[in-house]
Amino acid sequence: MAQGPDRYDIAIIGSGISGSTLGAILARHGLKVIIFEAGSHPKFAIGESMILETSETMRAMAELFAVPELAYFSSENFIAQIGTSHGLKRHFSYLHHREGQPQDLARSLQAVIPQRPHGYELHIHRQDSDYFLTSVAVRYGATVLQGTPVQDITLRPDGVEILTSQGQTYAADYVVDAGGMRSLLAEKFGWRARDLRTHTRTIFTHMVDLPCYNQVGASHQEYGIPFPVSEGTLHHIFHGGWLWVIPFNNHPRATNPLVSVGLQLDPRIHPARPDLSPEQEFFAFIARFPSIAAQFREARAARPWARSDRLQYTATHVVGERCCLLGHAAGFIDPLYSKGLYTTLMSTALLAHLLLDAQRAGDYATARFMPLEELTLRFVAAHDRLVANSITSWSNDKLWEVYAVLWLTGAYLEYIKLLSTRGLSKSRDDYFATVAGLRMVGGGFAAFDELADRVDTLIEAVDPGDEAAVDRAVAEIRAAFAAVPWMPWAFQQVLAGSNHLPANKLRLSLLKQNTGFMGGGAYRKHFFGDASLAEVARFFVRESLTYSTAAQTIRKRLSFRRRRAAPAAARAPRVRS
Ligand SMILES: Cc1cc2nc3c(=O)[nH]c(=O)nc-3n(C[C@H](O)[C@H](O)[C@H](O)COP(=O)(O)OP(=O)(O)OC[C@H]3O[C@@H](n4cnc5c(N)ncnc54)[C@H](O)[C@@H]3O)c2cc1C
Repeated sequence: MAQGPDRYDIAIIGSGISGSTLGAILARHGLKVIIFEAGSHPKFAIGESMILETSETMRAMAELFAVPELAYFSSENFIAQIGTSHGLKRHFSYLHHREGQPQDLARSLQAVIPQRPHGYELHIHRQDSDYFLTSVAVRYGATVLQGTPVQDITLRPDGVEILTSQGQTYAADYVVDAGGMRSLLAEKFGWRARDLRTHTRTIFTHMVDLPCYNQVGASHQEYGIPFPVSEGTLHHIFHGGWLWVIPFNNHPRATNPLVSVGLQLDPRIHPARPDLSPEQEFFAFIARFPSIAAQFREARAARPWARSDRLQYTATHVVGERCCLLGHAAGFIDPLYSKGLYTTLMSTALLAHLLLDAQRAGDYATARFMPLEELTLRFVAAHDRLVANSITSWSNDKLWEVYAVLWLTGAYLEYIKLLSTRGLSKSRDDYFATVAGLRMVGGGFAAFDELADRVDTLIEAVDPGDEAAVDRAVAEIRAAFAAVPWMPWAFQQVLAGSNHLPANKLRLSLLKQNTGFMGGGAYRKHFFGDASLAEVARFFVRESLTYSTAAQTIRKRLSFRRRRAAPAAARAPRVRS
């Protein structure tokens, strides 16, 4: 096998969001990286709706690995850097529908995303983000071969050999398969597994002329929610499935007319219609829900429709000798709650950390990478249970009213833990020692995990069609929530019947003992350690300033001036980790 100058430290299959991000980090730290990409950028990719946890992971990567560009998709405050093709996400909105009936305004929920301290989230136009991140990898020194599918990989104790479909071979110390759902390594080694709870298939495209739902249905004021539903990710939910609406055209600076649309259906309830084209099947299905059909009356697809069989898969192994699966190559459940990119980017961050250490030690032993396998499989399993039980709960909205609060609480706690870990960690080792133990929801807080298990078990046991059993389960779930001293007050309001989280304002209630942001007791200890309220407030202010639009603009201008003045050879900065 090749040694010397033609040999790479790390070979990466795929320059989607995981491969390009990993490549950028490793190249930035001086590793010799080669990325093989079957297609060529810019190219369509799916996975557009960001969440707080994903954005926070991006900020952590940007800071811990000194790759500032990785934070560019973490909020609206970066639109000046990344362009106006991306949409704005102020909230998650859920409208519950019953077949054949107009949407009932009482069955709605708007989970407003906090604007402070980092700005609202984004709907990322993936052909732009993935091309940008691939360019960042190139800029830091990675070799990217586009239009170069990998055909085979040979693993040896001392390295790997990559064979491209053009017949060229490349040698590297380690290979990362970031090739997405059709992962070469997973197929070659028979690592695919599908024993999962969730069953959904999908039909999706990008559309134009899709109005805000509030223009065809009731206004957001009539719903009593803070924002029009088009200013965030809209979910139409119903028995056995859901439909996402992710606009890119939803803010004053937007230049992209597209709206992403995707229908997920449980094939056991809504069997596939191979007799219809994907477009015909989509419109035939939504015709059963008059309010959804009204929103789509004038809409037209801007690209061919995509239709899949069952979406869910996981892996029996994520890590092998001198190789691993990353992101979509390892597993995927469903777009619901936008946890896919969080799973993908958290595993990318952890893998970057492990690879930098392995390369420095000259030791790629499989055991070093087991934290990646454990984290990835824990995330996929947690998402599976969350999605499967959410879909069950949509069959009886009394269940959804309480299950939604479990989703909200789990996401909120995870975000708080990520943020506080970045704030409190003294080093990269410190940070990953904590986050490697997370399980995607709940921030590693044992009291949440117990609560979630209790609620999930109740949902799994109940027949949504049996109203008496549903009432008993709901009463038990409410009692379980009521017994939790740290349940945030805003979620208690939702449990009490509010159909939205409050729009962003700094409120004194955030400081409430136990149920406020800092809370007390075991909650406070777990999430904030020994930090005082003043220290947390200082961190909050620093974050607001560091990630403000003004700070980004100044930083960008200074960096541009520095680059203009620097000799060409100095323009691809490296750091030694
Ligand atoms: C329908 C759907 C909707 C989703 N919506 C959301 C959402 O709203 N929010 C969210 O957070 N997540 C979402 N996700 C998940 C999200 O798409 C993934 O987490 C993310 O795209 C995974 O990125 P990746 O880089 O691992 O894989 P991919 O984006 O799939 O990239 C894989 C790359 O590898 C290349 N490749 C493949 N095989 C080879 C080969 N043999 N040789 C060379 N190159 C190869 C491909 O061309 C591609 O560029 C969604 C997923 C699906 C399926």
